[in-house]
Amino acid sequence: MNLDEIDIHKELKKYFGFSQFKGLQEQVIKSIITKHNTFVIMPTGGGKSLCYQLPALIQNGTAIVVSPLIALMKNQVDAIRSLSSENGIAHVLNSSLTKTEINQVKKDITSGITKLLYVAPESLTKEEYVEFLQSVPISFVAIDEAHCISEWGHDFRPEYRNLRHIIKQLGDVPVIGLTATATPKVQEDILKNLDMSDATTFKASFNRPNLFYEVRTKTKNIEADIIRFIKQHKGKSGIIYCLSRKKVEEIAEVLQVNGISAVPYHAGLDAKTRAKHQDMFLMEDVDVVVATIAFGMGIDKPDVRFVIHHDIPKSLESYYQETGRAGRDGGEGHCLAYYSYKDVEKLEKFMSGKPVAEQEIGFALLQEVVAYAETSMSRRKFLLHYFGEEFDSETGDGADMDDNVRNPKTKVEAKDQVKMLLEVVRDTKYLYKSKEIVFTLIGRVNATIKAHRTDAQTFFGCGSDYDERYWMALIRQVLVDGLLTKDIETYGILKVSDKGHAFIKNPVSFMMSEDHEYSESEDEAIVT
Ligand code: ADP
Repeated sequence: MNLDEIDIHKELKKYFGFSQFKGLQEQVIKSIITKHNTFVIMPTGGGKSLCYQLPALIQNGTAIVVSPLIALMKNQVDAIRSLSSENGIAHVLNSSLTKTEINQVKKDITSGITKLLYVAPESLTKEEYVEFLQSVPISFVAIDEAHCISEWGHDFRPEYRNLRHIIKQLGDVPVIGLTATATPKVQEDILKNLDMSDATTFKASFNRPNLFYEVRTKTKNIEADIIRFIKQHKGKSGIIYCLSRKKVEEIAEVLQVNGISAVPYHAGLDAKTRAKHQDMFLMEDVDVVVATIAFGMGIDKPDVRFVIHHDIPKSLESYYQETGRAGRDGGEGHCLAYYSYKDVEKLEKFMSGKPVAEQEIGFALLQEVVAYAETSMSRRKFLLHYFGEEFDSETGDGADMDDNVRNPKTKVEAKDQVKMLLEVVRDTKYLYKSKEIVFTLIGRVNATIKAHRTDAQTFFGCGSDYDERYWMALIRQVLVDGLLTKDIETYGILKVSDKGHAFIKNPVSFMMSEDHEYSESEDEAIVT
Protein backbone atom coordinates (compact mmCIF):
# COMPACT_ATOMS: atom_id res chain seq x y z
CA MET A 1 0.00 0.00 0.00
CA ASN A 2 1.24 3.44 -0.88
CA LEU A 3 1.29 5.87 2.00
CA ASP A 4 0.34 8.77 -0.25
CA GLU A 5 -2.93 7.11 -1.07
CA ILE A 6 -4.14 7.10 2.45
CA ASP A 7 -4.81 9.51 5.26
CA ILE A 8 -4.18 7.51 8.39
CA HIS A 9 -5.40 10.31 10.63
CA LYS A 10 -8.75 10.19 8.91
CA GLU A 11 -8.86 6.42 9.28
CA LEU A 12 -7.97 6.73 12.96
CA LYS A 13 -10.88 9.05 13.51
CA LYS A 14 -13.21 6.95 11.39
CA TYR A 15 -12.53 3.64 13.10
CA PHE A 16 -11.51 4.56 16.61
CA GLY A 17 -12.83 8.07 17.08
CA PHE A 18 -9.42 9.35 18.22
CA SER A 19 -8.10 12.57 16.78
CA GLN A 20 -4.44 11.94 17.55
CA PHE A 21 -2.02 9.09 17.63
CA LYS A 22 -0.48 8.16 20.92
CA GLY A 23 3.30 8.05 21.31
CA LEU A 24 4.96 6.17 18.48
CA GLN A 25 1.76 4.76 16.95
CA GLU A 26 1.91 6.81 13.76
CA GLN A 27 5.49 5.80 12.95
CA VAL A 28 4.73 2.16 13.72
CA ILE A 29 1.66 2.14 11.50
CA LYS A 30 3.58 3.71 8.63
CA SER A 31 6.26 1.08 9.00
CA ILE A 32 3.67 -1.69 8.84
CA ILE A 33 1.78 -0.42 5.84
CA THR A 34 4.99 0.04 3.94
CA LYS A 35 5.59 -3.68 4.53
CA HIS A 36 8.57 -3.47 6.86
CA ASN A 37 9.20 -5.99 9.56
CA THR A 38 8.50 -4.03 12.69
CA PHE A 39 9.30 -4.46 16.35
CA VAL A 40 7.29 -2.52 18.92
CA ILE A 41 8.28 -2.23 22.55
CA MET A 42 5.81 -0.21 24.53
CA PRO A 43 4.76 -0.45 28.14
CA THR A 44 1.29 -1.74 28.96
CA GLY A 45 -1.30 0.87 28.15
CA GLY A 46 0.95 2.39 25.51
CA GLY A 47 -1.59 1.60 22.81
CA LYS A 48 0.00 -1.38 21.11
CA SER A 49 -3.21 -2.97 19.82
CA LEU A 50 -4.08 -0.02 17.63
CA CYS A 51 -0.64 -0.28 16.01
CA TYR A 52 -1.73 -3.42 14.19
CA GLN A 53 -5.50 -3.03 14.25
CA LEU A 54 -5.57 0.13 12.19
CA PRO A 55 -3.25 -1.12 9.43
CA ALA A 56 -5.22 -4.36 9.35
CA LEU A 57 -8.52 -2.54 8.91
CA ILE A 58 -7.33 -0.34 6.08
CA GLN A 59 -5.35 -2.87 4.05
CA ASN A 60 -6.37 -5.64 1.71
CA GLY A 61 -6.21 -9.17 3.01
CA THR A 62 -6.37 -10.55 6.52
CA ALA A 63 -3.92 -9.80 9.31
CA ILE A 64 -3.10 -12.73 11.54
CA VAL A 65 -2.69 -11.78 15.18
CA VAL A 66 -0.98 -14.34 17.36
CA SER A 67 -1.80 -13.97 21.02
CA PRO A 68 -1.34 -16.39 23.91
CA LEU A 69 -4.49 -15.54 25.78
CA ILE A 70 -7.81 -16.76 24.50
CA ALA A 71 -9.86 -14.57 26.84
CA LEU A 72 -8.04 -11.46 25.68
CA MET A 73 -8.48 -12.40 22.06
CA LYS A 74 -12.23 -12.62 22.56
CA ASN A 75 -12.29 -9.16 24.13
CA GLN A 76 -10.33 -7.72 21.26
CA VAL A 77 -12.56 -9.32 18.67
CA ASP A 78 -15.64 -7.91 20.39
CA ALA A 79 -14.05 -4.48 20.51
CA ILE A 80 -13.21 -4.57 16.79
CA ARG A 81 -16.66 -5.80 15.88
CA SER A 82 -18.17 -2.89 17.73
CA LEU A 83 -16.32 -0.56 15.33
CA SER A 84 -17.99 -2.01 12.28
CA SER A 85 -21.37 -3.15 11.05
CA GLU A 86 -19.73 -6.33 9.84
CA ASN A 87 -19.45 -9.09 12.42
CA GLY A 88 -17.01 -11.04 10.30
CA ILE A 89 -14.49 -8.21 10.36
CA ALA A 90 -12.64 -9.99 13.18
CA HIS A 91 -12.56 -13.64 14.15
CA VAL A 92 -10.85 -15.95 16.58
CA LEU A 93 -9.68 -19.26 15.19
CA ASN A 94 -9.21 -21.93 17.79
CA SER A 95 -9.95 -25.51 18.65
CA SER A 96 -13.12 -24.69 20.59
CA LEU A 97 -14.98 -23.70 17.41
CA THR A 98 -17.50 -26.08 15.84
CA LYS A 99 -17.14 -27.19 12.24
CA THR A 100 -19.87 -24.79 11.17
CA GLU A 101 -18.16 -21.90 12.94
CA ILE A 102 -14.84 -22.75 11.33
CA ASN A 103 -16.47 -22.80 7.92
CA GLN A 104 -17.98 -19.37 8.57
CA VAL A 105 -14.56 -18.00 9.54
CA LYS A 106 -13.03 -19.42 6.38
CA LYS A 107 -15.85 -18.04 4.26
CA ASP A 108 -15.44 -14.54 5.72
CA ILE A 109 -11.69 -14.64 5.18
CA THR A 110 -12.01 -15.86 1.62
CA SER A 111 -14.54 -13.20 0.74
CA GLY A 112 -12.23 -10.51 2.12
CA ILE A 113 -14.49 -9.42 4.99
CA THR A 114 -12.17 -10.51 7.77
CA LYS A 115 -9.45 -8.00 8.49
CA LEU A 116 -8.18 -9.48 11.75
CA LEU A 117 -7.83 -13.13 12.57
CA TYR A 118 -6.77 -13.87 16.13
CA VAL A 119 -5.07 -17.21 16.71
CA ALA A 120 -3.35 -18.91 19.60
CA PRO A 121 0.15 -20.11 18.68
CA GLU A 122 -0.84 -23.76 19.07
CA SER A 123 -3.66 -23.36 16.54
CA LEU A 124 -1.13 -22.24 14.01
CA THR A 125 0.59 -25.60 14.22
CA LYS A 126 -2.49 -27.26 12.75
CA GLU A 127 -1.69 -28.22 9.20
CA GLU A 128 -5.25 -27.73 8.06
CA TYR A 129 -5.24 -24.08 9.17
CA VAL A 130 -1.84 -23.37 7.70
CA GLU A 131 -2.88 -24.79 4.36
CA PHE A 132 -5.97 -22.64 4.37
CA LEU A 133 -4.05 -19.50 5.29
CA GLN A 134 -1.62 -20.16 2.45
CA SER A 135 -4.52 -19.91 0.03
CA VAL A 136 -5.76 -16.45 1.10
CA PRO A 137 -4.15 -13.01 1.03
CA ILE A 138 -2.45 -12.18 4.34
CA SER A 139 -1.62 -8.54 4.99
CA PHE A 140 0.84 -9.20 7.83
CA VAL A 141 1.37 -11.30 10.92
CA ALA A 142 1.36 -9.56 14.28
CA ILE A 143 2.87 -11.39 17.22
CA ASP A 144 1.51 -10.00 20.43
CA GLU A 145 3.29 -10.65 23.74
CA ALA A 146 6.37 -11.45 21.69
CA HIS A 147 8.49 -11.91 24.84
CA CYS A 148 6.81 -15.34 25.16
CA ILE A 149 9.41 -16.47 22.62
CA SER A 150 12.28 -15.90 25.06
CA GLU A 151 13.27 -18.01 28.02
CA TRP A 152 14.45 -14.77 29.58
CA GLY A 153 11.00 -13.24 29.39
CA HIS A 154 8.59 -13.70 32.24
CA ASP A 155 6.23 -15.94 30.33
CA PHE A 156 8.12 -18.34 28.10
CA ARG A 157 5.88 -20.38 25.81
CA PRO A 158 7.63 -23.02 23.72
CA GLU A 159 4.88 -22.87 21.03
CA TYR A 160 6.13 -19.40 20.19
CA ARG A 161 9.37 -20.93 18.98
CA ASN A 162 7.57 -22.53 16.01
CA LEU A 163 6.10 -19.29 14.78
CA ARG A 164 8.90 -18.27 12.46
CA HIS A 165 8.77 -21.61 10.73
CA ILE A 166 5.02 -21.35 10.19
CA ILE A 167 5.09 -17.73 9.06
CA LYS A 168 7.69 -18.62 6.44
CA GLN A 169 5.20 -21.08 4.98
CA LEU A 170 2.74 -18.24 4.48
CA GLY A 171 5.03 -16.55 2.00
CA ASP A 172 6.68 -13.18 2.14
CA VAL A 173 4.52 -11.41 4.71
CA PRO A 174 5.73 -8.66 7.02
CA VAL A 175 5.98 -9.55 10.70
CA ILE A 176 5.24 -7.26 13.62
CA GLY A 177 6.41 -8.26 17.05
CA LEU A 178 4.92 -6.44 20.02
CA THR A 179 5.79 -6.61 23.68
CA ALA A 180 5.59 -4.65 26.88
CA THR A 181 8.55 -6.37 28.43
CA ALA A 182 11.86 -6.10 26.84
CA THR A 183 15.12 -6.17 28.61
CA PRO A 184 17.98 -5.97 26.12
CA LYS A 185 18.40 -9.75 26.40
CA VAL A 186 14.73 -10.44 25.60
CA GLN A 187 14.79 -8.00 22.68
CA GLU A 188 17.74 -9.78 21.19
CA ASP A 189 15.99 -13.15 21.61
CA ILE A 190 12.81 -11.94 19.91
CA LEU A 191 14.62 -10.57 16.88
CA LYS A 192 16.74 -13.69 16.60
CA ASN A 193 13.93 -16.20 17.02
CA LEU A 194 11.60 -14.41 14.66
CA ASP A 195 14.49 -14.06 12.24
CA MET A 196 13.83 -10.37 11.81
CA SER A 197 17.08 -8.64 12.61
CA ASP A 198 16.17 -6.23 9.79
CA ALA A 199 13.08 -5.05 11.69
CA THR A 200 12.55 -1.38 12.35
CA THR A 201 12.39 -1.09 16.12
CA PHE A 202 10.19 1.35 17.96
CA LYS A 203 10.77 1.58 21.66
CA ALA A 204 8.73 3.83 23.88
CA SER A 205 10.02 4.98 27.22
CA PHE A 206 9.11 2.74 30.13
CA ASN A 207 9.21 5.60 32.56
CA ARG A 208 5.96 6.06 34.47
CA PRO A 209 6.63 9.40 36.17
CA ASN A 210 3.38 9.38 38.13
CA LEU A 211 4.15 6.12 39.94
CA PHE A 212 5.77 6.32 43.36
CA TYR A 213 7.97 3.33 44.16
CA GLU A 214 8.49 2.21 47.72
CA VAL A 215 9.92 -0.92 49.33
CA ARG A 216 9.34 -1.71 53.00
CA THR A 217 10.91 -4.42 55.06
CA LYS A 218 8.45 -7.21 55.65
CA THR A 219 7.85 -7.74 59.33
CA LYS A 220 5.36 -9.69 61.36
CA ASN A 221 3.26 -6.55 61.45
CA ILE A 222 2.72 -6.50 57.72
CA GLU A 223 -1.04 -6.90 57.98
CA ALA A 224 -1.43 -3.93 60.31
CA ASP A 225 0.88 -1.96 58.05
CA ILE A 226 -1.21 -2.75 54.96
CA ILE A 227 -4.42 -1.85 56.77
CA ARG A 228 -2.93 1.47 57.84
CA PHE A 229 -1.79 2.14 54.28
CA ILE A 230 -5.21 1.38 52.81
CA LYS A 231 -6.96 3.50 55.40
CA GLN A 232 -4.72 6.38 54.36
CA HIS A 233 -6.03 5.80 50.83
CA LYS A 234 -9.63 5.48 51.90
CA GLY A 235 -12.16 4.86 49.15
CA LYS A 236 -9.45 4.46 46.52
CA SER A 237 -8.97 1.45 44.28
CA GLY A 238 -6.02 -0.81 44.81
CA ILE A 239 -4.62 -4.26 44.10
CA ILE A 240 -2.67 -6.40 46.55
CA TYR A 241 -0.58 -9.15 45.00
CA CYS A 242 0.31 -12.28 46.95
CA LEU A 243 2.22 -15.32 45.75
CA SER A 244 -0.13 -17.99 47.07
CA ARG A 245 -3.86 -18.53 46.94
CA LYS A 246 -3.87 -19.20 50.64
CA LYS A 247 -2.31 -15.84 51.39
CA VAL A 248 -4.79 -14.14 49.08
CA GLU A 249 -7.69 -15.62 51.06
CA GLU A 250 -6.07 -14.76 54.38
CA ILE A 251 -5.36 -11.15 53.53
CA ALA A 252 -8.77 -10.58 51.94
CA GLU A 253 -10.35 -11.85 55.12
CA VAL A 254 -8.17 -9.74 57.40
CA LEU A 255 -9.05 -6.66 55.38
CA GLN A 256 -12.76 -7.46 55.45
CA VAL A 257 -12.85 -7.87 59.21
CA ASN A 258 -11.04 -4.57 59.48
CA GLY A 259 -13.76 -2.78 57.59
CA ILE A 260 -12.04 -2.58 54.21
CA SER A 261 -14.09 -3.66 51.22
CA ALA A 262 -11.95 -6.30 49.59
CA VAL A 263 -12.42 -9.46 47.54
CA PRO A 264 -10.02 -12.29 46.73
CA TYR A 265 -9.09 -13.31 43.20
CA HIS A 266 -7.08 -16.37 42.18
CA ALA A 267 -7.22 -19.26 39.75
CA GLY A 268 -8.55 -21.60 42.45
CA LEU A 269 -11.86 -19.76 42.57
CA ASP A 270 -14.52 -20.85 40.12
CA ALA A 271 -14.94 -18.81 36.96
CA LYS A 272 -18.20 -17.27 38.11
CA THR A 273 -16.75 -15.98 41.38
CA ARG A 274 -13.68 -14.67 39.60
CA ALA A 275 -15.78 -12.80 37.07
CA LYS A 276 -17.98 -11.45 39.84
CA HIS A 277 -15.04 -10.20 41.90
CA GLN A 278 -13.39 -8.65 38.87
CA ASP A 279 -16.61 -6.83 37.96
CA MET A 280 -17.07 -5.64 41.52
CA PHE A 281 -13.64 -4.10 41.36
CA LEU A 282 -14.17 -2.53 37.95
CA MET A 283 -17.59 -1.18 38.94
CA GLU A 284 -16.18 0.12 42.24
CA ASP A 285 -18.38 -2.01 44.42
CA VAL A 286 -15.20 -2.93 46.25
CA ASP A 287 -12.06 -0.92 46.77
CA VAL A 288 -9.46 -3.63 46.92
CA VAL A 289 -8.71 -6.86 45.08
CA VAL A 290 -6.34 -9.23 46.81
CA ALA A 291 -4.97 -11.42 44.06
CA THR A 292 -2.40 -13.76 42.69
CA ILE A 293 -0.78 -12.89 39.40
CA ALA A 294 -3.84 -14.47 37.76
CA PHE A 295 -5.43 -11.05 38.12
CA GLY A 296 -4.71 -8.10 35.95
CA MET A 297 -4.00 -9.20 32.40
CA GLY A 298 -6.14 -7.04 30.19
CA ILE A 299 -7.70 -5.18 33.09
CA ASP A 300 -7.97 -1.59 32.02
CA LYS A 301 -9.09 0.24 35.13
CA PRO A 302 -7.57 3.69 34.80
CA ASP A 303 -7.84 4.85 38.39
CA VAL A 304 -6.08 2.14 40.38
CA ARG A 305 -4.35 4.24 43.04
CA PHE A 306 -2.09 1.68 44.64
CA VAL A 307 -0.54 -1.70 43.97
CA ILE A 308 0.85 -3.52 46.97
CA HIS A 309 3.16 -6.50 46.68
CA HIS A 310 2.65 -8.52 49.83
CA ASP A 311 5.36 -10.83 48.48
CA ILE A 312 8.05 -9.88 46.04
CA PRO A 313 7.50 -11.09 42.49
CA LYS A 314 9.84 -13.49 40.74
CA SER A 315 11.18 -10.99 38.27
CA LEU A 316 11.39 -7.27 37.70
CA GLU A 317 9.37 -7.73 34.51
CA SER A 318 6.48 -9.03 36.59
CA TYR A 319 6.98 -6.24 39.10
CA TYR A 320 6.89 -3.62 36.38
CA GLN A 321 3.78 -5.15 34.79
CA GLU A 322 1.95 -5.43 38.07
CA THR A 323 2.86 -2.01 39.39
CA GLY A 324 2.03 -0.67 35.93
CA ARG A 325 -1.63 -1.26 36.63
CA ALA A 326 -1.58 1.72 38.99
CA GLY A 327 -2.20 5.25 37.80
CA ARG A 328 -2.99 4.46 34.19
CA ASP A 329 -4.94 7.71 33.98
CA GLY A 330 -1.77 9.61 34.82
CA GLY A 331 -2.93 10.32 38.37
CA GLU A 332 -1.45 9.11 41.63
CA GLY A 333 -0.15 5.54 41.73
CA HIS A 334 1.61 4.27 44.82
CA CYS A 335 3.57 1.05 44.37
CA LEU A 336 4.48 -0.51 47.67
CA ALA A 337 6.42 -3.76 47.91
CA TYR A 338 7.20 -5.70 51.06
CA TYR A 339 10.55 -7.38 51.00
CA SER A 340 12.01 -10.16 53.04
CA TYR A 341 14.89 -12.39 52.12
CA LYS A 342 12.88 -15.29 53.41
CA ASP A 343 10.52 -14.81 50.47
CA VAL A 344 13.47 -14.93 48.12
CA GLU A 345 14.52 -18.24 49.62
CA LYS A 346 10.99 -19.54 49.25
CA LEU A 347 10.99 -18.66 45.57
CA GLU A 348 14.41 -20.25 45.15
CA LYS A 349 13.22 -23.41 46.78
CA PHE A 350 10.18 -23.45 44.56
CA MET A 351 12.41 -23.23 41.52
CA SER A 352 14.80 -25.91 42.67
CA GLY A 353 12.54 -28.65 41.27
CA LYS A 354 12.75 -27.24 37.75
CA PRO A 355 15.21 -28.14 34.98
CA VAL A 356 18.68 -26.69 35.55
CA ALA A 357 18.58 -24.22 32.66
CA GLU A 358 15.27 -22.85 33.83
CA GLN A 359 16.57 -22.59 37.39
CA GLU A 360 19.60 -20.68 36.27
CA ILE A 361 17.44 -18.10 34.54
CA GLY A 362 14.99 -18.02 37.43
CA PHE A 363 17.77 -17.32 39.95
CA ALA A 364 19.29 -14.64 37.79
CA LEU A 365 15.95 -12.86 37.42
CA LEU A 366 15.31 -13.16 41.13
CA GLN A 367 18.70 -11.69 41.98
CA GLU A 368 17.63 -8.60 40.09
CA VAL A 369 14.54 -8.31 42.27
CA VAL A 370 16.73 -8.64 45.37
CA ALA A 371 19.06 -6.00 44.05
CA TYR A 372 16.13 -3.70 43.35
CA ALA A 373 14.67 -4.23 46.80
CA GLU A 374 17.99 -3.67 48.54
CA THR A 375 19.28 -0.88 46.42
CA SER A 376 19.74 2.54 47.88
CA MET A 377 19.86 4.23 44.51
CA SER A 378 16.93 5.78 42.65
CA ARG A 379 14.50 2.92 42.11
CA ARG A 380 13.27 4.45 38.90
CA LYS A 381 16.82 4.61 37.59
CA PHE A 382 17.39 1.00 38.59
CA LEU A 383 14.20 -0.22 36.90
CA LEU A 384 14.72 1.75 33.72
CA HIS A 385 18.32 0.63 33.52
CA TYR A 386 17.05 -2.93 33.72
CA PHE A 387 14.94 -2.23 30.65
CA GLY A 388 17.93 -0.80 28.84
CA GLU A 389 16.95 2.82 29.33
CA GLU A 390 19.09 5.56 30.80
CA PHE A 391 17.47 7.83 33.34
CA ASP A 392 18.84 10.97 34.92
CA SER A 393 17.97 10.62 38.58
CA GLU A 394 18.46 14.36 39.13
CA THR A 395 16.44 15.87 36.35
CA GLY A 396 14.44 13.01 34.79
CA ASP A 397 10.65 13.02 34.80
CA GLY A 398 9.48 11.63 38.13
CA ALA A 399 13.00 11.75 39.60
CA ASP A 400 11.85 12.31 43.17
CA MET A 401 9.10 9.71 43.10
CA ASP A 402 10.60 6.99 45.23
CA ASP A 403 11.50 6.27 48.82
CA ASN A 404 15.25 6.15 48.23
CA VAL A 405 15.34 9.56 46.62
CA ARG A 406 13.04 11.13 49.20
CA ASN A 407 14.92 9.62 52.15
CA PRO A 408 18.43 8.77 51.07
CA LYS A 409 19.89 5.87 52.99
CA THR A 410 23.33 5.74 54.48
CA LYS A 411 26.01 3.73 52.85
CA VAL A 412 29.11 2.46 54.55
CA GLU A 413 32.48 1.45 53.23
CA ALA A 414 32.77 -2.34 53.30
CA LYS A 415 35.94 -2.85 51.28
CA ASP A 416 37.79 -4.76 54.02
CA GLN A 417 34.77 -6.90 54.88
CA VAL A 418 34.21 -7.84 51.25
CA LYS A 419 37.84 -8.93 50.96
CA MET A 420 37.52 -10.97 54.14
CA LEU A 421 34.33 -12.60 52.88
CA LEU A 422 35.83 -13.49 49.51
CA GLU A 423 38.91 -14.96 51.16
CA VAL A 424 36.83 -17.10 53.47
CA VAL A 425 34.80 -18.40 50.53
CA ARG A 426 38.01 -19.16 48.65
CA ASP A 427 39.82 -20.72 51.63
CA THR A 428 36.95 -22.97 52.65
CA LYS A 429 37.46 -24.58 49.23
CA TYR A 430 33.97 -24.09 47.86
CA LEU A 431 32.22 -26.43 50.23
CA TYR A 432 29.71 -24.03 51.70
CA LYS A 433 26.49 -22.21 51.05
CA SER A 434 25.82 -18.81 52.59
CA LYS A 435 24.89 -20.17 56.00
CA GLU A 436 28.19 -22.00 56.67
CA ILE A 437 30.18 -19.10 55.26
CA VAL A 438 28.49 -16.77 57.72
CA PHE A 439 29.06 -19.25 60.56
CA THR A 440 32.73 -19.47 59.64
CA LEU A 441 33.02 -15.71 59.65
CA ILE A 442 31.36 -15.21 63.01
CA GLY A 443 32.92 -18.33 64.54
CA ARG A 444 29.86 -20.48 65.10
CA VAL A 445 30.08 -24.26 64.83
CA ASN A 446 27.62 -26.72 63.39
CA ALA A 447 27.91 -30.34 62.30
CA THR A 448 29.02 -29.52 58.77
CA ILE A 449 31.70 -27.14 59.97
CA LYS A 450 32.95 -29.68 62.52
CA ALA A 451 33.05 -32.43 59.93
CA HIS A 452 35.34 -30.31 57.77
CA ARG A 453 37.36 -29.11 60.80
CA THR A 454 36.83 -25.57 59.59
CA ASP A 455 36.67 -24.46 63.23
CA ALA A 456 40.38 -25.32 63.53
CA GLN A 457 41.37 -22.92 60.75
CA THR A 458 43.09 -19.65 61.65
CA PHE A 459 40.44 -17.62 59.82
CA PHE A 460 37.57 -19.18 61.78
CA GLY A 461 35.73 -16.32 63.50
CA CYS A 462 37.70 -13.61 61.66
CA GLY A 463 34.56 -11.59 61.06
CA SER A 464 33.08 -11.77 64.53
CA ASP A 465 33.04 -7.97 64.88
CA TYR A 466 29.86 -8.11 62.79
CA ASP A 467 26.76 -10.20 63.29
CA GLU A 468 25.28 -12.80 61.00
CA ARG A 469 22.66 -10.47 59.63
CA TYR A 470 25.33 -8.05 58.48
CA TRP A 471 27.18 -10.83 56.69
CA MET A 472 24.06 -12.25 55.06
CA ALA A 473 23.22 -8.83 53.70
CA LEU A 474 26.77 -8.32 52.49
CA ILE A 475 26.79 -11.69 50.73
CA ARG A 476 23.63 -10.74 48.88
CA GLN A 477 25.03 -7.43 47.78
CA VAL A 478 28.31 -9.02 46.75
CA LEU A 479 26.38 -11.65 44.77
CA VAL A 480 24.42 -8.95 43.00
CA ASP A 481 27.67 -7.19 42.25
CA GLY A 482 29.05 -10.39 40.73
CA LEU A 483 32.07 -10.88 43.01
CA LEU A 484 30.59 -14.13 44.24
CA THR A 485 28.45 -16.57 42.31
CA LYS A 486 26.06 -19.21 43.52
CA ASP A 487 26.57 -22.67 42.10
CA ILE A 488 23.40 -23.85 40.40
CA GLU A 489 23.90 -27.60 40.52
CA THR A 490 24.60 -27.79 44.20
CA TYR A 491 21.93 -25.22 44.74
CA GLY A 492 23.76 -22.45 46.44
CA ILE A 493 27.42 -23.23 47.07
CA LEU A 494 29.25 -19.93 46.91
CA LYS A 495 32.19 -19.40 44.60
CA VAL A 496 34.52 -16.49 44.02
CA SER A 497 34.16 -15.20 40.45
CA ASP A 498 37.01 -13.89 38.32
CA LYS A 499 35.87 -10.43 39.27
CA GLY A 500 36.05 -11.52 42.92
CA HIS A 501 39.61 -12.83 42.56
CA ALA A 502 40.59 -9.52 41.01
CA PHE A 503 39.01 -7.75 43.98
CA ILE A 504 41.02 -9.83 46.48
CA LYS A 505 44.23 -8.87 44.67
CA ASN A 506 43.31 -5.26 44.38
CA PRO A 507 40.44 -4.26 46.69
CA VAL A 508 38.50 -1.19 45.71
CA SER A 509 35.80 0.76 47.48
CA PHE A 510 32.58 -1.21 48.05
CA MET A 511 29.74 0.86 49.41
CA MET A 512 27.24 -1.28 51.24
CA SER A 513 23.83 0.18 51.75
CA GLU A 514 22.75 0.07 55.31
CA ASP A 515 19.23 0.38 54.11
CA HIS A 516 17.82 -2.93 55.01
CA GLU A 517 16.26 -3.17 58.43
CA TYR A 518 16.03 -6.71 59.58
CA SER A 519 12.86 -8.17 60.91
CA GLU A 520 12.30 -11.03 63.28
CA SER A 521 10.73 -13.08 60.53
CA GLU A 522 13.95 -12.78 58.59
CA ASP A 523 15.94 -14.01 61.54
CA GLU A 524 14.31 -17.37 61.16
CA ALA A 525 15.36 -17.53 57.54
CA ILE A 526 18.98 -17.16 58.45
CA VAL A 527 19.33 -19.60 61.32
CA THR A 528 17.16 -22.45 60.09
P1 ADP B 1 -1.41 -1.97 25.30
O1 ADP B 1 -1.86 -3.11 24.41
O2 ADP B 1 -0.14 -1.35 24.83
O3 ADP B 1 -1.40 -2.31 26.74
P2 ADP B 1 -3.90 -0.83 24.54
O4 ADP B 1 -3.81 -1.13 23.10
O5 ADP B 1 -4.75 -1.71 25.39
O6 ADP B 1 -2.44 -0.78 25.15
O7 ADP B 1 -4.30 0.68 24.72
C1 ADP B 1 -4.42 1.27 25.97
C2 ADP B 1 -5.50 2.31 25.99
O8 ADP B 1 -5.15 3.42 25.18
C3 ADP B 1 -6.82 1.78 25.45
O9 ADP B 1 -7.85 2.21 26.31
C4 ADP B 1 -6.95 2.43 24.08
O10 ADP B 1 -8.28 2.63 23.71
C5 ADP B 1 -6.23 3.75 24.31
N1 ADP B 1 -5.66 4.32 23.08
C6 ADP B 1 -4.92 3.69 22.15
N2 ADP B 1 -4.57 4.52 21.16
C7 ADP B 1 -5.10 5.72 21.45
C8 ADP B 1 -5.08 7.01 20.81
N3 ADP B 1 -4.45 7.23 19.67
N4 ADP B 1 -5.74 8.02 21.43
C9 ADP B 1 -6.37 7.82 22.60
N5 ADP B 1 -6.43 6.64 23.25
C10 ADP B 1 -5.79 5.60 22.69
